[in-house]
Parts: sequence; structure tokens; C-alpha cells
Amino acid sequence: MIDFEPTEEQRMLKKTVREFSQKVLFPRAREIEKGEKIPDDIIKQMADMGILGIGLSPEYGGSGMDPVTVGLVAEELARGDITCAVPVFFLVQTAWGCVLQKYGSDELKGRVLPGVAAGKQFLGIASTEPDTGSDVTAIRTRGAMLGGRWHLDGEKMFISGVRESVHQMPGGGGHLTLARTGAGKGGAGISMFYVPLTSRGIDPTYLEDWGRRGISTGGFAMVDVELPASHLIGEEGKGFYAAMEGFDYARGIIGMICCGVAQRCMELGIDHIKGRKAFGQHLGKFEGVQFKLAENWAQVEAVRLLALRGLWALKTEREGRGSRFASTMAIAMAKMLAPVQAFGAINDAMQWFGAMGYTEDCPLELGLKGVRSYMWAEGATEIQKLIVARELLGRDFFRND
Ligand SMILES: Cc1cc2nc3c(=O)[nH]c(=O)nc-3n(C[C@H](O)[C@H](O)[C@H](O)COP(=O)(O)OP(=O)(O)OC[C@H]3O[C@@H](n4cnc5c(N)ncnc54)[C@H](O)[C@@H]3O)c2cc1C
Repeated sequence: MIDFEPTEEQRMLKKTVREFSQKVLFPRAREIEKGEKIPDDIIKQMADMGILGIGLSPEYGGSGMDPVTVGLVAEELARGDITCAVPVFFLVQTAWGCVLQKYGSDELKGRVLPGVAAGKQFLGIASTEPDTGSDVTAIRTRGAMLGGRWHLDGEKMFISGVRESVHQMPGGGGHLTLARTGAGKGGAGISMFYVPLTSRGIDPTYLEDWGRRGISTGGFAMVDVELPASHLIGEEGKGFYAAMEGFDYARGIIGMICCGVAQRCMELGIDHIKGRKAFGQHLGKFEGVQFKLAENWAQVEAVRLLALRGLWALKTEREGRGSRFASTMAIAMAKMLAPVQAFGAINDAMQWFGAMGYTEDCPLELGLKGVRSYMWAEGATEIQKLIVARELLGRDFFRND
């Protein structure tokens, strides 16, 4: 009933991506962090390998891979770029590309998705605002239809990929942006739009993050940003639900990314404790060190399996065999645990390096800072706990009225 073996196709893909990750990404992780940019040649190599369109259908330049396969690729990328910048670049576009593919107009999909798959355009998500992040229903950005065109006003903040959309990518980029277009309780009345960040009326801002600096975080104010009708994603007033589907996909991939980074960092730790001696013997011979290694390895592997279980549930849902409940539940559990377990495992491995662990000669701080972002990004740890509890207790326990 359960088969843990990757398919032949997945095995080959993992091998190719691992080679790229170890030969190209890992040696350049510090360059990515310090340069505050994913170098253009790396983006091009990923596009040439077909990774950037991997979840999209061939019609849009992709290869139509399922969420499990996407997760395996993300894990391999994370083993190389432990800063998480390249994995974020991959995951945001893959998860939200699939939302655009499912709900976008044909005209918009034809204009955006081939550019994303070719590494020429960036595609992101813009839900968070200066005053609200976890409570998506409290967004203040407004959208209204006037004279056959949508007009958006508001501000988004803490958004990944703003600089990439505005400055870096040759074809620019845009974000799936949530705006309230009508009254309604909870998520009802919220719509999703594709907003190119070079549109008139957009004023971008940039933030100084202390980790995963190779991909930008910023915001953009919108003053009467005008969009054609075709930029509405899905039905008016139903954007919140499309966003939750995208978050599920993104969170499942994040689970794999955190585990990939943690495993790579623990492997670096293993190399160190097999070589470094204290009190006349290798650090790896001390039981206190061995126990930490065993516990962390097992915990990260357990979370990895949970993330794969969530992505598999998403796959079955797409095939018409699964349910939203099964996907959301498993993925929320994985997203709740993955950054926390990964952070603890990396922190313990860093300890083995002694004082060198506090220098830039030891790369583990890159991983520590990278996975820490996921205790907030794409839904904070506490919100994942609320989702799990909601699925267990029922929605009545989460209404204030
Ligand atoms: C590096 C990075 C990249 C990001 N990229 C994007 C992006 O591309 N697009 C995008 O839209 N957003 C992005 N975000 C924003 C992210 O989604 C939000 O940070 C997240 O949703 C939390 O929102 P907030 O920061 O406004 O915190 P708040 O919602 O203000 O919450 C603050 C704290 O309170 C906790 N909290 C809130 N409500 C509850 C509750 N009911 N019970 C218990 N605890 C609670 C939260 O968990 C959090 O720890 C990014 C964030 C980071 C750090």
C-alpha cells in the first residue's frame, strides 16, 4: 500500500538537481547571501534544466510534475543553497504558478507563465500588508471595477521578490495580490489579481533582512493601479480560497526545503565531529554529541516524511482522489514543525564547530537564518497550529460570534 521508493523519473531528476546543487549552488551560497541577488547565470541554468516550470503544464513551457516530485526537487536545491534564497525563488513561482494556471484567464496565463518557466519573469504572492499578515481577512487593499477595468489601492509589505520583479528579471514580474472587492464575512469578498510591479501607480520599497538575502523582501504601495479585466484570478470575491490552495502547496514545499537545509548542515557537522578532537578523542565519540545527532536526524526525517505525505495528499486531491482536509492537515503539521526542528538541528550542529561556528568560515549560520524565515513566511508557526486544531475541533471553535 505504501511505497517509499522514488520513481525512476524522480530518481534521475533528484540526481541531476543534486549535482547542480552541490557543484553550482553550495560553493556560491555565501556569494548569493553577500551579493543580495541570485546571480543571473544561476537562474538561467535552472531554466535550462526545466526546473522553473516543473509544476506547469507543457502548454506553458513546463513539464507537469506532481507536488511530490516538486518537493523532492526543492529539497535538493535546499541542500545546495542553504541560505534558502534559491529554494524560495523556486517554491514561490512553482506554487503560485500552479494557482495562476488553475484560475487565471487564458490570455494572462499565455502572457506570464512561459516567461516564468523560461526564467525571464518573476511571479510572487502579495497577501501581507503593513497592518495585517496572519489575519488575511483584515486586509485593507481595495479593488473596484470602473469602466471595464479594475482599480487597486492599498499597500503590501514583507513580500518576497519585489526587487526581482522590478529590477532583475528581463521580462519584469508580478504578484498575485489580494484585495477586498466586496463585503462578506471572513474570506468572502476578497479577490485575487495579477499585478505587474512595473504598472503605473506602484511604488516599491525594500527591506533589509538579516537572512536569505539573495532574494529580496519588500513592499509596494498601490495608488489607483489600473488592470485589465483579465487580471482577475478566478471568480470575484473568491480569491481568498485560491490563496489558501496556494499556501498549502507552498507550505508543503517549505517543509521539504527546511529538511534539505537541516540535513545538509547536519552532514557538515558529521564531517566536523569525525575530524575534530577534544580530550584526546574525536568529538563524534562523545555520547552527548552522538545523541544530539541521532535525535535531530530522526526528527528531521520524520518531518520530511510528513511533508511528503502532505504533498502526496495534494497530488491525490488534484487527481480527484483526495480531500482538502487531508492536504491541509498534513501540510499544516509539516509547516508547523519543519522550520522549528530544522532550526534546532542546525543550531546543535553549529555548536560542534566551537568558536569557528561563530565565524563566516562555518556556513551553518546561513542555514540557521534561512530556515528561521519560515517561522513567519507563508504563514507563521502559530497559524499552522490553529489550522491543525481547527481541523481537529471543528470550525465552531474558531468563530468569535
Ligand atoms: C522573509 C519573509 C518573506 C515573506 N514573503 C512574503 C510574501 O512573499 N508574500 C506575502 O504575502 N507575505 C510574505 N511574508 C509575510 C508573512 O506571510 C507574514 O510575516 C506572516 O503571515 C505573519 O504575519 P505578520 O508578520 O503580519 O505577523 P502578525 O500577523 O502580526 O503576527 C505576529 C505574531 O503573532 C502571532 N499570532 C498572530 N495571530 C495569532 C493567534 N491567533 N494565536 C497565536 N499567535 C498569533 C503570529 O504567529 C506571529 O508570531 C514574508 C515574511 C518573511 C519573514
